[in-house]
Amino acid sequence: MQGIRNFIKTYLLLDMFQGLWVTLKNMFRPKITINYPEEKTPQSARFRGLHALRRYPNGEERCIACKLCEAVCPALAITIESDVSNDGTRRTTRYDIDLFKCIYCGFCEEACPVDAIVETRLHEYHMEERGENIMSKDKLLAIGDRYEAMIAQDRAADAPYR
Ligand code: SF4
Ligand code: SF4
Repeated sequence: MQGIRNFIKTYLLLDMFQGLWVTLKNMFRPKITINYPEEKTPQSARFRGLHALRRYPNGEERCIACKLCEAVCPALAITIESDVSNDGTRRTTRYDIDLFKCIYCGFCEEACPVDAIVETRLHEYHMEERGENIMSKDKLLAIGDRYEAMIAQDRAADAPYR
C-alpha cells in the first residue's frame, strides 16, 4: 500500500506542488528582509559589540586595574599589566583585548566594578592588517571617548534591570 502511495505521489509531483504552494503563499506576505546597510534593524541597549574603556566626566580613567575582567574572561582574551601611577592610584599600563579570541559574552563588563570596560553597539568594524585584532588601551579609550554619550544612554536604559 505504501508503495502505491509513493508511486502516486511521485507520478503527480505532489511534493513539488506542495513546495510551490508555500512559495505562492509567501509571495503575498509582507517582506521581512531589509536593505542593509541603508536600513537597519532595531538594536537592544544590551547589544554586545566592540569594546570601549570609559572615563569619568572629569577625564579620569575609570579602570582601577583590579583585573576582574581579565580573571572572568572565559576566552582569555584580555591582558592587563598595571603599575602605581604618579598620583598613587593603581592604573593599567597595558590593557589589550584580542578580538579574535573574544566571544562577546559580556562577562568583562558584568564583572567590572566601575563600569570601565563596556561593550558598545558598534558591530560594523573590520581589520585589514595583521595585529589590528588587538584592541590596545589607547584604542579602547578612544572608542570610549568618542561614543560616551551613546554608551551612557544605553547603560541608563539598562540600569533598572541590572
Ligand atoms: S566579552 Fe567575554 S570573551 Fe570578550 S573580552 Fe569580555 S569576557 Fe572576554
Ligand atoms: S576594566 Fe574594570 S574589571 Fe577590568 S581591570 Fe579595569 S576596573 Fe577592573
